[in-house]
Amino acid sequence: MVQSSTEFFKTLPPKYCCDCGAIIDEHAESYMNHCDHCLRDIK
Ligand SMILES: [Zn+2]
Repeated sequence: MVQSSTEFFKTLPPKYCCDCGAIIDEHAESYMNHCDHCLRDIK
């Protein structure tokens, strides 16, 4: 049974930024453990 990517992402729990705890956008890749704001601070 093939699951569409949309359904797949719906089942994923929301990811939280390791730094500030903000919810990271669903479309963010798995390697991202920080929100956009904190990611800028790191880079
Ligand atoms: Zn953050």
